[in-house]
Amino acid sequence: MRGTLTAIASKNKTNSPNYDVIVIGSGMGGLVTATQLAAKGAKVLVLEKYLIPGGSAGYFEREGYRFDVGASMIFGFGTQGTTNLLTRALEAVNVSLETIPDPVQIHYHLPQGLDLKVHRDYEKFLEELIAKFPQEKAGIRRFYDECWQVFNCLNAMELLSLEEPRYLMRVFFQHPFACLGLVKYLPQNAGDIARRYIRDPELLKFIDMECYCWSVVPADRTPMINAGMVFSDRHYGGINYPKGGVGQIPQKLVEGLEKAGGEIHYKARVTKILLEKGKAVGVQLANGQQFYAKRIVSNATRWDTFEKLLPPEMMPKSEQKWQQRYQKSPSFLSLHLGVKADLLPPGTECHHILLEDWDNMEAEQGTIFVSIPTLLDPSLAPPDHHIIHTFTPSWIEQWQGLSPQNYQKQKDEAASRLIERLERIFPGLNQALDYEEVGTPRTHRRFLGRDGGTYGPIPGRKLAGLLGMPFNRTAIAGLYCVGDSTFPGQGLNAVAFSGFACGHRIAVDLGL
Ligand SMILES: Cc1cc2nc3c(=O)[nH]c(=O)nc-3n(C[C@H](O)[C@H](O)[C@H](O)COP(=O)(O)OP(=O)(O)OC[C@H]3O[C@@H](n4cnc5c(N)ncnc54)[C@H](O)[C@@H]3O)c2cc1C
Repeated sequence: MRGTLTAIASKNKTNSPNYDVIVIGSGMGGLVTATQLAAKGAKVLVLEKYLIPGGSAGYFEREGYRFDVGASMIFGFGTQGTTNLLTRALEAVNVSLETIPDPVQIHYHLPQGLDLKVHRDYEKFLEELIAKFPQEKAGIRRFYDECWQVFNCLNAMELLSLEEPRYLMRVFFQHPFACLGLVKYLPQNAGDIARRYIRDPELLKFIDMECYCWSVVPADRTPMINAGMVFSDRHYGGINYPKGGVGQIPQKLVEGLEKAGGEIHYKARVTKILLEKGKAVGVQLANGQQFYAKRIVSNATRWDTFEKLLPPEMMPKSEQKWQQRYQKSPSFLSLHLGVKADLLPPGTECHHILLEDWDNMEAEQGTIFVSIPTLLDPSLAPPDHHIIHTFTPSWIEQWQGLSPQNYQKQKDEAASRLIERLERIFPGLNQALDYEEVGTPRTHRRFLGRDGGTYGPIPGRKLAGLLGMPFNRTAIAGLYCVGDSTFPGQGLNAVAFSGFACGHRIAVDLGL
C-alpha cells in the first residue's frame, strides 16, 4: 500500500467523525440519500463541487432563459402507488413542488414516415400504435400489458434496500406474488419479451427506440424491470414537469435537508476518500480540508469514485469485474436554444425524438432528443419565446485533442447540422433563433464531474437483465455508492430509488 495511504489514515484523535454521513455530490441520488437520512435524525453533510445542487438535474440561466442541464422528462411525480419516488422524497423532508402534467410523453419522428405519439392515456397510445401496425394488434397489447405486470409488482411494495434482509422478508410476506413476479423479471431484457409477441421488424425497431431513448441501448440490452417501470408509469403517474424548471427539485430537497438539520457545502470538490485500515472514514477536498464521518457515500460515478477518489491499488475485484461487464455510455452534444414563439404551431408537444435512418439509432450524433419545457411552463423564457433543448449522443473522443479554434469550429458545425436536421420537424428554426449555446461531452465532464461526460453505465454485451447492477454497499467498508451507476440505473426516478435504498441501508447500519 502506498505511503500516501498511511498519511491519509492518520490516527489523530481530531479525526473522530463529526458527522454520521458524508455524501459526495448533490445529484438527485446523493440528495435523496441525504434527505432520507437527515429525516431519520442522522447528522449529514453533503459536499458539492459546483455552485448549485442537482448535477444532471441542475439548471443554468442566460438572457432571461432558464435551461435544464439534462433531464426534463420527469417520472416519479405521481400521486398514488409506491413508485412516485420524487413526490415521496420531497414529502419526507416536508417540502413539495407544483407540477404540470404532460399529455404526451414523446412525439416520435422515425424512419419511413413512422410518426406517432405516446399519449398519457394508455388506450389512446395503443390505438395509435396499432393503427400503424394492425397486423401486430395482439402482440402489441401483450407486450405492453406484460410491462404492466412488472410495474404492478413494483408499485405494490415500498421500494427500499434490496440489501436489507429484514425488509426483504417483510415485503415478501406482505406481497409474495409481487416479489415472485419481480424475481422472474430481474434477469430478463425487454427485447426477449418483445420478440415473444412481435414479429414485424419495423415494430421491433420501434421497441428498440422506446428503450434506447432512456437506456441508450436497444431492447435486447435493456432490463425488463426498467422497461416495465417506464412503459407503464408514463400512463399511471404520468410525466409531470416541475413548475420553475427541473432545477427546482434539487433546490427543494436542499431546503428540506437544511430544515431537517443537514448541511450542504458548495464549491467543495472532494479529491480523496480517506481510509483507515481499509475502511472509508472521511474525505479530503481540493483545498486540503478534511471531514470525517461514520459512513461515506459517493454520488460520483463508479469510474470517478474508484479510479479518481481512491488509490488505484484499492480498486476492489468486484469493481474490476463490473467494469468488464458494463461500459461508459456516450455523453451528449447539447444545444440550448431560445426561439421565437411563433415557430411552434399550436399542438406542438414538449418532447420529440427524431431519427431518419434506423441504422443510425446508436451512431455518434444519430438519434436527436428534443425538449421544449416552455410549452408546459412559459415562465422559463422571456415573453413570446420558447426554449428548445436538443441533444444527441456523442463520444468524448470526438472532442479531444482539438485546438481551441478547431474545438469552436467543430461545435459550430455540429450545431448547424443539428439545426438543419431539426428543420424537418420545426420548419423555420434557423430563422427563429434568438439564443444558442452548445455543450459537448467535454462540457458534461467539466460541469457534472462525470468521467468522459458519460450518461451512465450501459451493458457492454447482453447481460441477464438487472442482475449485474450493484446495490449501494461497496467492497470497501464504510463506503457506499448512490446514483446512476448503482441499481437500477439512469433517470431521476431511478436514482431516487437508489437514494431511498442507500439511505435505508445506512440507517440500518447506523442503527437509526
Ligand atoms: C442530456 C441529459 C438528458 C437527460 N434526460 C433525462 C430525462 O428526460 N429524464 C430523466 O429521468 N433523466 C434524464 N437524464 C438522466 C438523469 O439526469 C440522470 O440519470 C440523473 O440526474 C443522475 O443523477 P445522479 O445522482 O446519479 O448523478 P449526477 O446528476 O451526475 O450528480 C452527481 C453530483 O455529484 C457532484 N460531484 C461529482 N464528483 C464530485 C466530487 N469529487 N466532489 C464533489 N461533488 C462531486 C457533481 O457535481 C454532481 O452535482 C438525462 C441526462 C442528461 C445528461
